[in-house]
Amino acid sequence: MAANEQMQNCACPDCKCEVSPATAVDRNGKKYCSQTCADGHADGSIGCGHTGCACGKAA
Ligand SMILES: [Zn+2]
Ligand SMILES: [Zn+2]
Repeated sequence: MAANEQMQNCACPDCKCEVSPATAVDRNGKKYCSQTCADGHADGSIGCGHTGCACGKAA
């Protein structure tokens, strides 16, 4: 009955992960699946710790 806790996609452009608003990393009002995504992969890291996710990889 928690309709306001709908899963949503990570705000990282290439990330396909779904995050729960309750547990997501909040950055500037956007929800991210991980700290790495929230930082925009500023350190050049690829992926966010989730299997099969390669967000942040240079195009
Ligand atoms: Zn991800
Ligand atoms: Zn990411």
